[in-house]
Amino acid sequence: MTIRVHNLTELNNIIISCTRCPRLVEYRSSVARQKVKRYMNEHYWGRPLPGFGDPSARVLIVGLAPAAHGGNRTGRMFTGDSSGDFLFASLFRCGLSNQSSSLRVNDGLRLRGVYVTAALRCAPPQNKPARDELDRCFEYLKMELSLLEHVKVIVALGGIAFSTCKRLVGIREGKFGHGTEIKAGGYLVVASYHPSRRNTQTGLLNAQMLDRIFLRARALAGLSELQ
Ligand code: SF4
Repeated sequence: MTIRVHNLTELNNIIISCTRCPRLVEYRSSVARQKVKRYMNEHYWGRPLPGFGDPSARVLIVGLAPAAHGGNRTGRMFTGDSSGDFLFASLFRCGLSNQSSSLRVNDGLRLRGVYVTAALRCAPPQNKPARDELDRCFEYLKMELSLLEHVKVIVALGGIAFSTCKRLVGIREGKFGHGTEIKAGGYLVVASYHPSRRNTQTGLLNAQMLDRIFLRARALAGLSELQ
């Protein structure tokens, strides 16, 4: 895929119109049509998700993919699901956002020094992307990073995001582990367990562990606390 984009707005407009993965187009649309009981009265986004946050970000956070009834419903990464609840509470405690929750677009959330994105832009069935889908979507992440000129630190949430980020900075070595750091391509990649409900409910990841990741990322990126 060769697309030339000049800014994040252009890129985001391309992303939200993307239909390159037939399986994901079918899944994201059918979830948006069928909904779940608790969100039956809501209008689902049902399309790919662009990244969002501070265009001057020094820290890029890369998740796996939108949740079927989270981002795929609200239209914003990590917004309206339990992973997002855990993530944004941590960003707030670490001085990287102005509020601790992310419930819907236009809820007043402002990220400071941080941009949030994902390895895959469309919700995959069972949260499991296929290799070819990750490959196709990788092009968008590459373009996004090139437009975010101030990024120094990339926080990868989970093993798949970590592999994607290694590819992004041009290395193959490095085993995933919570707190693993890799320097390559002019960036520092910091790995974290994904704040999924499974990881947080089993205690694999707790609030202090995630806070330590973001405090470390903030320090490595040279960000001071939000005033
Ligand atoms: S996953 Fe990425 S490449 Fe595939 S349809 Fe969605 S936006 Fe397009």
